[in-house]
Amino acid sequence: MTVSFTLTPEQEQLKQAVRGFARSEFPGLMARVRAEADPKARADLLRPTFEKAVAAGFLRGLIPVPFGGAASSGIDAAIFVEEWAAESPDFTISFAGPLIALAPVYEVGTPEQIQRFVAPFLADAGAPVAAMAYSEPEGSANFDAPPPAAGLLTTAVPDGDEWVINGRKAWASHLSGWDGDGPDLMTIVCRTPSGISLIVAERAQLAGHLEVEEYYDLHGLKGCLTTRVKLTDVRVPKANLLGSEGDGARLTRNAFFASGASIGSFAVAAMRQAWDIAYRFAVAEKRGGAVPIIEHQAVSDVLADTKGKIEAVRLLSWRALDAVLAQDPAAPELALHAKVFGSETGVSVVNDLVKIVGVTAYDERFPILRYLADALAYPIIEGSNTGVRRRQLHGLFATEGYDPLAVSGMS
Ligand SMILES: Cc1cc2nc3c(=O)[nH]c(=O)nc-3n(C[C@H](O)[C@H](O)[C@H](O)COP(=O)(O)OP(=O)(O)OC[C@H]3O[C@@H](n4cnc5c(N)ncnc54)[C@H](O)[C@@H]3O)c2cc1C
Repeated sequence: MTVSFTLTPEQEQLKQAVRGFARSEFPGLMARVRAEADPKARADLLRPTFEKAVAAGFLRGLIPVPFGGAASSGIDAAIFVEEWAAESPDFTISFAGPLIALAPVYEVGTPEQIQRFVAPFLADAGAPVAAMAYSEPEGSANFDAPPPAAGLLTTAVPDGDEWVINGRKAWASHLSGWDGDGPDLMTIVCRTPSGISLIVAERAQLAGHLEVEEYYDLHGLKGCLTTRVKLTDVRVPKANLLGSEGDGARLTRNAFFASGASIGSFAVAAMRQAWDIAYRFAVAEKRGGAVPIIEHQAVSDVLADTKGKIEAVRLLSWRALDAVLAQDPAAPELALHAKVFGSETGVSVVNDLVKIVGVTAYDERFPILRYLADALAYPIIEGSNTGVRRRQLHGLFATEGYDPLAVSGMS
């Protein structure tokens, strides 16, 4: 098999289509989002564009081909995320809920579950949303820690043909749905009699049993609708259990591989935008000197170092997303590197670029600092690097027989 880094004609077409949508729809929308103080009202502003994106087929584009959608390659996914996130990472995160929430359905769902749970997201109208309800207000990193640790607190108790779910969930995009009655589908990580399990609740089962306790007001990613919700006596059929009871911790970790890998592409999007701003500033501005500041070696060195890092993270993210979608055994490690290295590099690159612009960057109206605000989220969302992701790498490295060359096929 040959390895090519040249986009195919179809990928070129995809890039132009997603870029065209993002550039025509997102800049005006995001200016209005940033100007709105109320986090719930901010998220509501996204809805008409969300509906347009669904009608244009972009939601189907996130569902893998074997499950009725159009997603066929990790590179396509990376192009999609980078182009949309360059204009609005918050819109992209809100839109991409099914990427995580449906991952366990693809992995262990029965044919009936796949048909029932994926169907709302194959629609070409409306604004269907999905939430992966893993995080909890009391802590998430130790969700699978054995007693005496508290670990995961949400419970599902069997009652006849149903599960009865109680607990509090936090942070996941669209836990509340658009209107506070829940998303179209919520994959709930909960404690059942045999251990940690995943159970799907549909909107009809959540409505009336979900209370929004708080709308979080985020520092960056302003359009993301993140909340803390309380689930009280949510009743769902026994048939909504995904896989086996007690297999939920493994399925949860697996569910975050695709989204973890995509964080590398989110970081690339922030870095490339910040680089472009800093580069144009360096070419145009003399700041009272005799020559544009790009002619000072110190400034050019930063541009050179940061550009190299952007290219490196982009290739790593392509490789990681390709491995995840192809179910390559290297996928877990590559996805973790894309998440950890991509997000940490994102913060340091944007910060370095802010420094070469200098004091002008600190004016709220100058557009570079918003990319730092977004980039600061990437080490801590999708499983924080410190509490979750590096620990997962630790687990891989500690596995007996770990082969460091296997991940790149160089054993
Ligand atoms: C925009 C946005 C979208 C999100 N989307 C989702 C989503 O779709 N689904 C979802 O469930 N969550 C979501 N989250 C939450 C996110 O995934 C968090 O990464 C997750 O809640 C874990 O946070 P944490 O690791 O900081 O855990 P916490 O349990 O809050 O831990 C806090 C900190 O304590 C330290 N720590 C704790 N335990 C350990 C340990 N054993 N070893 C080392 N350090 C430790 C770490 O420094 C860790 O960062 C989202 C958050 C945001 C802001």
